[in-house]
Amino acid sequence: MTILLSTLNARYAHASLGLRYLQANMGELREATQLHEFVIGAKTTDIVEKLLSHKAAEGTTIVGFGVYIWNVEETAKVVAMLKRVAPEIVIVLGGPEVSYESAEQQIVQLADYLVTGWGDVTFPQLCRQILNGPKPLMKTHVGVQPPMADIVLPYSLYSEQDIAHRTLYVEASRGCPFKCEFCLSALDKTAWPFALDNFLLELESLHARGARLFKFVDRTFNLNVKTSLKILQFFLDKLEANPDDPVFAHFELVPDHLPDALKDAITRFPAGALQFEIGIQSFNPEVQALVSRKQNNEKAAENIRWLMQHSHAHLHVDLIAGLPGEDIESFARGFDQLVALQPHEIQFGILKRLRGTPIIRHTEAYGLVFDPHPPYTILATDRIPFATMQRLVRFARYWDLIANSGRFAHTLPVLLGQSPFANFMALSDWLYAKTDATHRIALDRLAGLVGEWLRLQGMDGGAVNDLLSTDYAGKTPKVPEQQKQPLAGSVAPQRQARHLVH
Ligand code: SF4
Repeated sequence: MTILLSTLNARYAHASLGLRYLQANMGELREATQLHEFVIGAKTTDIVEKLLSHKAAEGTTIVGFGVYIWNVEETAKVVAMLKRVAPEIVIVLGGPEVSYESAEQQIVQLADYLVTGWGDVTFPQLCRQILNGPKPLMKTHVGVQPPMADIVLPYSLYSEQDIAHRTLYVEASRGCPFKCEFCLSALDKTAWPFALDNFLLELESLHARGARLFKFVDRTFNLNVKTSLKILQFFLDKLEANPDDPVFAHFELVPDHLPDALKDAITRFPAGALQFEIGIQSFNPEVQALVSRKQNNEKAAENIRWLMQHSHAHLHVDLIAGLPGEDIESFARGFDQLVALQPHEIQFGILKRLRGTPIIRHTEAYGLVFDPHPPYTILATDRIPFATMQRLVRFARYWDLIANSGRFAHTLPVLLGQSPFANFMALSDWLYAKTDATHRIALDRLAGLVGEWLRLQGMDGGAVNDLLSTDYAGKTPKVPEQQKQPLAGSVAPQRQARHLVH
């Protein structure tokens, strides 16, 4: 008998935390359980062949797939092929993408069993039933949420290879008490913490094994200030004890809650050690009310400003375009407001209709039209027609290439001027007309195009060259990517490090 846990990650660097939780909680079946991760884009036949090479010589083989919005289409192909070439294999699905609106999904129809919601306890129970009988009668098994203390933490399952080469996801709590209607965490209605001392021991052991890059998946890291402070102190102690061997930690923050005690701890971190992902999503109070997002905009703006002025943290702030009730003017105002706060990165996302999220209640009233295929991106609303939405999609892509990349740090303020949204939209429209592409634009070509645009706006050619030459993009001779060390002594990912040196 063999149990294979598998998923297709978005990138090799993303080690699946969900699969490791399942493996850690298999109890007496843990020895018989193996983990096999793939990366999207891999050939279906290769994945199926590799999985089958681990099939049990005797007895039952169960394959459990973690299904997410980014891998559902490719996983469906893998499941279909597995069922054709080895129909005796028992396939169990789990993960957020198949936890809601499941019956209508082709992948669910192809599989033998489905675990919705939390799988830590329910997946091993289901495996026991499949292996020992009596055969489970139901196809769908609603995940039981155990007391947090009953969940075995999975961090010892990160291999030496994972520690050396991949992002290590960790979580001090699950769930979120807020109810933003576009977000799956809105269904949790509360957050559940893991026992902090145990969790810190796990972090300690990961650090002792060489882990230096930690990404917290907690939806709201700063909810419980006492807990947040202890976690920050853990990293501060490490930084103090080993200044030449630093750590980098990433947290998601709610922006309007930053008490002084947290601010004090944050200011003690050196550059290149701390990153905050901050969801603003919209600055429009009417839109916020419509999607049940509670946010004190003034406080949020004040905290972002404070973080930029008084801390070394790298700030990645999220905005969403296409929310119900938002028109292009109000989105532009929010964007300009956020640019004025000067966070290092603005993640300009386009609304997606995640399965199970309550946002669909606005579909009729606000003319929401979503792509029926993953990732279910919004195509139009009653206020933003399809053609304009496409312009926003391209804006987001070019914004990533030019602004978030950190490669045009000195040129960007000139491009944005006094009306960042309008000016960048004009550049975005022009770039698309010129290239007919939003991907595969080499950096040299992009730098040339940006220069051409500035000259078209009336800037003197010499001044354009001087400006671009102060940036990464314009510098010659080119330094190979792997030789660039923008922030010596930091383990911050390169893009973040680029932002912090400007
Ligand atoms: S968007 Fe953030 S704050 Fe809102 S429900 Fe989701 S995780 Fe919670």
